[in-house]
Amino acid sequence: MSNAYDPNNIFARILRGELPCTKVYEDDDTIAFMDIMPQSDGHTLVVTKEPAAEIFDLSEAAAGAAIRTTQRVARAVRAAFSPDGISIGQFNGAAAGQTVPHVHFHIVPRYADRALRGHGTDIQDPAVLAEHAGRIIAALREA
Ligand code: AMP
Repeated sequence: MSNAYDPNNIFARILRGELPCTKVYEDDDTIAFMDIMPQSDGHTLVVTKEPAAEIFDLSEAAAGAAIRTTQRVARAVRAAFSPDGISIGQFNGAAAGQTVPHVHFHIVPRYADRALRGHGTDIQDPAVLAEHAGRIIAALREA
């Protein structure tokens, strides 16, 4: 194990329903919701339900489920936002930029004419997040 798992990290609390999120997708193994401080419009997170701080700690089954959901949601983000590209990222350890110690994948649309906003800097208006989530949910329905 690379890290002791903190069961009170913010994503564990979202998974337990103790904190809200702007959800776009959920299945038995994963949940996907809008990043509250998006680096670009459509920035979405895919979170494993299996409790693990870093990718090294995940079971193979949970890792497989996470990447399947990431691909599925990324396709919907692409359909919803038509970005010029999409970065997919996953950070392990504070030195790598990880701020929430529960495994998650970032789906970050990239727009050629816009620079990324800072990582975890500006909280987005909840109404904007809800509108973006609605576009992704609609694209998932059509997939
Ligand atoms: P990382 O730095 O890779 O651990 O990413 C954590 C991400 O979670 C950052 O991009 C934050 O903006 C995002 N974040 C933090 N708190 C919340 C929250 N309550 N709901 C949604 N996203 C969050």
